[in-house]
Amino acid sequence: MVNATALITGASSGFGEALARRFANEGWRLVLVARRFGRLQRLQEELGGPAKVHIIELDVRDRAAVVAKLGERPAPFLDVSLLVNNAGLALGLEPAWQADPDDWDTMVDTNIKGLLYVTRAILPGMVKRNRGHVVNLGSIAGSWPHPGAHVYGASKAFVQQFSRNLRADLIGTRIRVTNIEPGLCETEFSFVHFKGDRAKAEELYRGNDPLVPEDIAEIINWVVKMPSQVNINSIEVMPITQTWGALPVKPV
Ligand code: NDP
Repeated sequence: MVNATALITGASSGFGEALARRFANEGWRLVLVARRFGRLQRLQEELGGPAKVHIIELDVRDRAAVVAKLGERPAPFLDVSLLVNNAGLALGLEPAWQADPDDWDTMVDTNIKGLLYVTRAILPGMVKRNRGHVVNLGSIAGSWPHPGAHVYGASKAFVQQFSRNLRADLIGTRIRVTNIEPGLCETEFSFVHFKGDRAKAEELYRGNDPLVPEDIAEIINWVVKMPSQVNINSIEVMPITQTWGALPVKPV
């Protein structure tokens, strides 16, 4: 059984919630972060109460709040050995010239800046103890272009390159960095992406045999349980029903 602390952002839903359950089973102490505090409270109760699970209501876009609230952790949860930067979202389906700039701000502020703020808050402790693992949630959209993915895909390309550059900075330490790059997985992601249109979100998943959050939790659990000399740099994973598209050519 693991006797260490993992901090998961975006633990109120999807991958983060599945991972919290999986890690609780493996014996991790957990720090769970999200904005929807009621959901975190229910998860805390389910997974063993405040002795095992510390919950933090936090919007990762708020830099001052990230510093303040992550700094307030009680003693058993101070030394974070594993950080999972999972909080993130896609917003809107329009092409770039019709997209809402507010959606772009939200994606950049959450997927890029929020991830940076949390990493900056947690990493010094890992470096000091010369022990740790940062797992970031990228996406296939960070590597492969597709229509409508403009800023979301670019934000995940940032996560991919930031993960690699973190590895470069951390040479000479025992701190590992991994970028997980999933394809289609059924969570609340599409509900958020389609701005609350549940029917449309369900249609995308129906019959397409998507990944499920427990698949991602299983993969992350495998990555972190590898022997300490092994660093998995990245893992790209798609459901069997998904693959790359053709390079389109169209008369103008
Ligand atoms: P969900 O919508 O189910 O979960 C997203 C989580 O992020 C929620 O817990 C949400 O919590 C949290 N979150 C969003 N914004 C903020 C914020 N500003 N501050 C704190 N927490 C926030 O989606 P997934 O589980 O699918 O997504 C998790 C990650 O995986 C994301 O980074 C996503 O981009 C990535 N991903 C998802 C794929 C998929 O197909 N599902 C594919 C590839 C990557 P709350 O709203 O309570 O704050």
